[in-house]
Amino acid sequence: MDRVSRYFKSLMLMELVSGLGVTLKYFFKPKFTLRYPEEKTPKSSRFRGLHALRRYPNGEERCIACKLCEAVCPALAITIESTQREDGTRRTTRYEIDLFKCIYCGFCEESCPVDAIVETDFLEYHFENRGENIVTKEQLLAIGDRYEQSVASNRQKDAAYR
Ligand code: SF4
Ligand code: SF4
Repeated sequence: MDRVSRYFKSLMLMELVSGLGVTLKYFFKPKFTLRYPEEKTPKSSRFRGLHALRRYPNGEERCIACKLCEAVCPALAITIESTQREDGTRRTTRYEIDLFKCIYCGFCEESCPVDAIVETDFLEYHFENRGENIVTKEQLLAIGDRYEQSVASNRQKDAAYR
């Protein structure tokens, strides 16, 4: 009996009709999908995206080359070299992050005593050439300059929980 009913069902294209019924059922319901990249899902202020090095409002870089971020990084993604300036302050001469190694854990920004290294909420980046995964100090500072407003606002929102 089962075989006969299956035969008639396939003859009448019942599976196709029931499949189209499911499509029709959801056709007029609100959509869960977004038209990315025109539409985007909201992001948490704690979102950990591309890294940046921040400056103080007077333009001085915040990083004091303490190397805490380098020491805490579980992926060994950060490389720092430093020197002492004529005024006695210490600054990095090399600050690089290998984004292929990075696991975006956020430990670097948690460990930084001067809020210098941060993770922005920017996530739409890619590499086209070998070696571009290593982000240099100049690039990190440029990213920091570009996203300072959103970084500062996100940290402000999160201040009560830090
Ligand atoms: S986010 Fe984590 S893995 Fe990436 S550089 Fe910072 S400490 Fe290292
Ligand atoms: S980014 Fe912060 S933790 Fe890392 S070396 Fe600079 S001051 Fe130290």
